[in-house]
Amino acid sequence: MVHDHFLDMPLIVSNLGIHAFMKTIENFMQDLFQTRIAEQKEILANRAPYRQKFFTPDCRWDSRVGTLEMMETERIVSSDGSDMKATVITAYNVPFYASGPQTHRRRYHIKAVGDNWLVWLVENECLACRGEGDENCINCKGQHWLSSQRGIAS
Ligand SMILES: [Zn+2]
Repeated sequence: MVHDHFLDMPLIVSNLGIHAFMKTIENFMQDLFQTRIAEQKEILANRAPYRQKFFTPDCRWDSRVGTLEMMETERIVSSDGSDMKATVITAYNVPFYASGPQTHRRRYHIKAVGDNWLVWLVENECLACRGEGDENCINCKGQHWLSSQRGIAS
């Protein structure tokens, strides 16, 4: 545990080198993934009596079906950054398509706050061009990443 705590401190990252730095980001993201899954399981368990009271088991409206699967399949694709900020691109399975599951990507923006990392922005890949389009993409105008928080991100 002492070793892990040591690696979780961004302020000393510059002495550890890039490999150790990326390890702290990876640890932070894995912790986020696992905690998010646990939170979602608790939400689903709390909603079960409400769902059973008003809906048949196969009614999908407002059921949150697939949300847990999306969370459980999320994994890191790549990461980049300095000892003060980083971006992490992840991929996850989306089960809602009739033609079969699709893989979507997401980009997290993370910054060092005190001894911790915190996410300050999360963007989704443009699904119209799959992050490959130029300014002619009607959805992202070539920006590739979209956030409801600030519209089209640069
Ligand atoms: Zn696009």
